[in-house]
Amino acid sequence: MIRASVEDFSSELVEIPCPLCGNTSHNLRHSVRDRLNIPLCSKTGRPQDLTYSIVACSSCGLLYLNPRPKLSELARFYDSEDYDPHTGSGSGWMGRLFHLARAFTLQWKYAATTSGMVTGSALDVGCGTGEFLQHITQKGWQVLGIEQDAEAAHIADSKGVEVLAGDPTDLLPVDKQFDLVTMWHSLEHLPRLNQAIRNIADTVKPGGRLCIAVPNPLSYDAIRYGERWAAWDAPRHLYHFRPEDVKTLVESQELKLLSIKAMPLDAFYHSLLSVTCWADHKGGIGNLADSFLTGLISFVIGMNPRRSSGVLYLFSK
Ligand SMILES: [Zn+2]
Repeated sequence: MIRASVEDFSSELVEIPCPLCGNTSHNLRHSVRDRLNIPLCSKTGRPQDLTYSIVACSSCGLLYLNPRPKLSELARFYDSEDYDPHTGSGSGWMGRLFHLARAFTLQWKYAATTSGMVTGSALDVGCGTGEFLQHITQKGWQVLGIEQDAEAAHIADSKGVEVLAGDPTDLLPVDKQFDLVTMWHSLEHLPRLNQAIRNIADTVKPGGRLCIAVPNPLSYDAIRYGERWAAWDAPRHLYHFRPEDVKTLVESQELKLLSIKAMPLDAFYHSLLSVTCWADHKGGIGNLADSFLTGLISFVIGMNPRRSSGVLYLFSK
């Protein structure tokens, strides 16, 4: 296998300062591959097995992808049949399992985000194929979704959900506010992080709630699988937020952290994906058993939400 370093492709990648504190010095933490094997450059057909760098900011400690593909190139890295969140129907047993888990999780998401609220208006930023919005519409909420991926947005639209297709940072309504704003594993995908979080905070009504779910690099499954942890998901995941990072980022916008909760199935999902998503390391009964055991240990450790594989943060305005 050719292991090309990102330095060989510097013309395709851009260095960025820390998105959280602006510091420009950092230390390499992980060299990770793209689990979807999408070439870095479509024109020249670069080797597919190059590695991306996950670095830790020397000042605040934020983990982020650096260097990363140019803004204009990012959309290309979602163009794969194997990208689960954007597929409207399951393919293979992994797809079926994903959809079964998603149906189970919808009930949990609704209860976790709306407890203590009456129905109102809701915005889902990065709504994917629209399942959450479809679910809460049935509970009496007025909903709007924003989705970068045109195909996923089209599927959401076909479910009767109002969706704006395009970059959420550009499409967030400036003249409307919502009782509930949700981001299910979408914050880590937004390239203009500070502008995005400012615009998102502006869409929350005074007294409203902002709910953000992201993977957790401090989880047991992240540590157990190292550079093969599926949720590094380079180059689609641009940041890997620890609980203090999310708090710092969002509270800078005058929202207040209410509570944090463990996402119940993420430990199993991230573990299963970590043993099945690599072309040279697929499945096998030993790996599946390993992923189940890892998921179970991570689930138990994740009863402390700060160590959970996926974390839901609830903020109030
Ligand atoms: Zn920093």
